[in-house]
Amino acid sequence: MAPLSKITLVTLGSVGGANAWGALGHATVAYVAQNYVSASTAAWAKGVLGDTSSSYLANIASWADDYRATTAGKWSAPFHFIDAEDNPPTSCNVDYNRDCGSAGCSISAIANYTQRVGDGRLSATNTAEALKFLVHFIGDITQPLHDEAYEVGGNDIKVTFQGYSDNLHADWDTYMPEVLIGGSSLSDAQSWANTLINEIESGSYKSQAASWIQGDTISDVVTSATRWASDANAFVCSVVMPNGASALESASDLYPDYYNSAIGTIELQIAKGGYRLGNWLNMVYNSEIVAKRDLEGSVNEARDVDSLPDLAGRDWLPAPRPLSRAMLAREAMGGSCCGSETHAH
Ligand SMILES: [Zn+2]
Repeated sequence: MAPLSKITLVTLGSVGGANAWGALGHATVAYVAQNYVSASTAAWAKGVLGDTSSSYLANIASWADDYRATTAGKWSAPFHFIDAEDNPPTSCNVDYNRDCGSAGCSISAIANYTQRVGDGRLSATNTAEALKFLVHFIGDITQPLHDEAYEVGGNDIKVTFQGYSDNLHADWDTYMPEVLIGGSSLSDAQSWANTLINEIESGSYKSQAASWIQGDTISDVVTSATRWASDANAFVCSVVMPNGASALESASDLYPDYYNSAIGTIELQIAKGGYRLGNWLNMVYNSEIVAKRDLEGSVNEARDVDSLPDLAGRDWLPAPRPLSRAMLAREAMGGSCCGSETHAH
């Protein structure tokens, strides 16, 4: 496959940055999910989003990245990742209580928006917002470097890919998927999704797809989402930087050898994200939407005593953790290491 032109890379860099799976990855996750939602779930989601097109989830899959880039949406930036304070490549692990910061993380956000999307008391706008966040974050959490604190999720690991200087996080989010597929349009995403769906239905993923959603339950979102984060985080040690970051920084080019070692995991994780999202939305629909319709009066009465889940996900946050020694040292030095700008992943 021909390498991407410099113009393409520059354009991608300025638009997608290192925010998440790029637009291609998120739209592909969405199309895979669309294949696995029931007809009833699809009708519900189309109604919530006000979009009856055949791309109703793909169309909004990157909304959360656009929103976080605005002044009004800056508060949502921490929800795109969880900063696992592990020690790759020696040790990889995610601990929700240790790693979900006081501003929230992907796991707390998935919990909050799962609750909000089925709450029934929110405005149409807020319900749609909850669904848009969910579609995005269930994609983000499968990208290994969105489950890693080391070097700001790889954003500070400077590498060379196809002759251009960039960082490891951006290569995983955007450039390696783009090289595989050769574009980033919705039709590219649909085409990639069809390939992955075939692998799930009758190919190399057939025997494992059931394990991707095993134990998932919206009655314990934190445990379910922590399992997804741990599953992806393990690849940081085994695939993303098995020989440490310095081996990648000193490599003359990550293409083709490193790319070849990583691209299979990228495809697997995109397929997982879509399969999980489809199953998750079916569970939200069946357990929240249908159940509430069936039990309308009594449930609404009972729910009135519950407080409304918080817009910003703050009601799902763990207790604030103390500043780490590294952060205290940086503060003592007068540095401003840890502003939201540096947490770009
Ligand atoms: Zn994101």
